[in-house]
Amino acid sequence: EVWKVSGHLDAFTDPLIECKLCHQRIRADNNNEIKEHEKSHKEKNIDWTKPKSFNLMTEVFLGVTEPKQKAYLRGEITQGVFVNFQNVVDSSRVKIPFGIAQIGKAFRNEITPGNFTFRSREFEQMEMEYFIKPDNEEGQKLFDYWKNERLNWYVKLGIKKENLHLRDHEENERAHYAKYATDIEYNSPFGWKEFEGIHHRGDWDLGRHKLTYKDSDGKEEYTPWVIETSGGVDRAALFFLIDAYYEENDRVILKLHPNIAPYKVAVFPLLANKEELVKKAREIYQTLSRKFYVSWDDRGNIGKRYFSQDEIGTPWCI
Ligand SMILES: [Zn+2]
Repeated sequence: EVWKVSGHLDAFTDPLIECKLCHQRIRADNNNEIKEHEKSHKEKNIDWTKPKSFNLMTEVFLGVTEPKQKAYLRGEITQGVFVNFQNVVDSSRVKIPFGIAQIGKAFRNEITPGNFTFRSREFEQMEMEYFIKPDNEEGQKLFDYWKNERLNWYVKLGIKKENLHLRDHEENERAHYAKYATDIEYNSPFGWKEFEGIHHRGDWDLGRHKLTYKDSDGKEEYTPWVIETSGGVDRAALFFLIDAYYEENDRVILKLHPNIAPYKVAVFPLLANKEELVKKAREIYQTLSRKFYVSWDDRGNIGKRYFSQDEIGTPWCI
């Protein structure tokens, strides 16, 4: 029911065309892939069907009795926030403007997964729904604010500024709910690619779910507007890795920002067979472990230990 109300069952679609020779389906807007496919049939003439909408929701069947009930894996994590909107307002006593942020898995029946973890059928999203008063000026101001906040967040954590830009959506490419929309795009080895969207959703969501917000003094009641920031975790992780990757002669160095490095520090005893040294190193390791993710390595020579920590992006070695 949630997916019906949210509009996903009607409008969460890609336009696809089908090759009448081999029945493969391709996105109707992907000219490169269409050309590649035509080449693959050599000199044969190909007919394509007219573009047809193809729903991206992943269908599942639930229940122990037949016929099983049709259900859907969530195609985005957003709807959970709206379904729980009233619970959050009641239990945390928040005042507008406020945001609800979450991270979680989503599933889409993508026909062309690929480019490493860029597009996959199971993926992780990180989102925030930011609720504001229904006011055009306020909406524009906060939409611009979050655009810049989100872009700078990636720069602060290590993505090179010159590899990022904001791209505003034209009216005809906006999703069914968006008043304004901007993508954060990254200059990847396979072209400029979107990995976070900032959307001004107006009152689309809360309106569809018939939810309102009442001021604490009870004087004003309205349907809040929503500014959403929606990022792909797998996509961001891929781009962080690409921008952190360096080669120096025969060494590989991952220059990860300390905040996203899996280990913050590594501890090596200089000599593994000197009891005193090992004991001191262990003490340091245990002290640091209370606050940080710490790696321990006492194998091989010291140089090799540094190299292997460089490869996984550990910022400090002791
Ligand atoms: Zn074909």
